[in-house]
Amino acid sequence: MNYCSRCGAPVTQKVPLGDNLPRHVCNQCELIHYHNPKIVAGCIPEWENQILLCRRAIEPRLGL
Ligand SMILES: [Zn+2]
Repeated sequence: MNYCSRCGAPVTQKVPLGDNLPRHVCNQCELIHYHNPKIVAGCIPEWENQILLCRRAIEPRLGL
């Protein structure tokens, strides 16, 4: 990837803050371009008027 799909500025491969892998990052708008074609789905489990929230236990973004 050479240019940002959002603003058209050149991108640089570097490790973004809070990440641990090199990514293509826009030099102008700082958009991170992930190369990951996997489709992800989420849900909010609800039971007896309560919802289950989870905290991430592995890097990257441990604790979020
Ligand atoms: Zn950009």
